[in-house]
Amino acid sequence: MHGRLYNEVVLEIVISPQTPLLIKSGQKASIDPALPDMQFVRTRKRLSDGSVAEVVYIPGSSLRGVLRAHAERLLRTLNEEYACQVEAKKLCLRQKGLKEDKEAADTLYKASCHACRLFGNTGVASRVQLSDLYPAGNPLRETRFGVAIDRITGAVAVGPFDLEVVTDGRFEGQIVLRNFTIGQFGLLSAALLDIADGLVALGHAKSRGLGRVRIEFVRAQFRLARSDQNQLLGVGALAPTEVKRRYGLPDNDAIALEGFQPVRRDSLYYQAHSNDDAQIRQWLNTVAPRWVEEVQRAG
Ligand SMILES: [Zn+2]
Repeated sequence: MHGRLYNEVVLEIVISPQTPLLIKSGQKASIDPALPDMQFVRTRKRLSDGSVAEVVYIPGSSLRGVLRAHAERLLRTLNEEYACQVEAKKLCLRQKGLKEDKEAADTLYKASCHACRLFGNTGVASRVQLSDLYPAGNPLRETRFGVAIDRITGAVAVGPFDLEVVTDGRFEGQIVLRNFTIGQFGLLSAALLDIADGLVALGHAKSRGLGRVRIEFVRAQFRLARSDQNQLLGVGALAPTEVKRRYGLPDNDAIALEGFQPVRRDSLYYQAHSNDDAQIRQWLNTVAPRWVEEVQRAG
């Protein structure tokens, strides 16, 4: 099914910390005493003036991890079986005794849990791609002082240590979703909106109130293989009947969105877009509840 593009949405987003944010680098703590023990992850980036600098950034894998974990949590509130337990090594394909290299793509897709169908597993490609999020301008950084308290004795277990946090800044990146059902876009939207509303935090020390962020939706750009008035069409409505049957794609895979007006741009695709945060948010809010209906119908 991934050989052909039926639908696509590209969401350009900006993440800004509402409480101090620390996305830790995977590297070992530096031995340079001038640097904090827990540093914000950095990467080398070419700046607009052509020079290369080290900047703090949010790796796409980091946001992806939080999105997936939250989507799994949402799925499990309905039914434990809707998302497999990756950490516990209870993987949907393994539990069904399927080997990735021996089965057809449609068999693997149908045997995968709802989280894996969206975010991928060893046998199914992910429908969601996240870019790294780079800072616009210079994020405000601070060093915080931290200790970890031993839960049993109440004594200081680790530390004191320094945390490098970002307290203000804008991190820009994009999320691309391809060949999605309306329910899959809904689940991604629900998880994104919960992060945007500060219900789900990013990064280190979430339990201590760090990592609440705001998400600004700068642009949403859709491409569809077919158009039907103000309807956003899912892959269940766009793929040929044969593909739909093999992959078990949903019926009535469409949703009407206010102000959604796809226009034909070339011989292949219809396009629609919005640069209005409020409108994009409204679309995401409209689509979000559809995941419940879709996973319940699929069982
Ligand atoms: Zn799974």
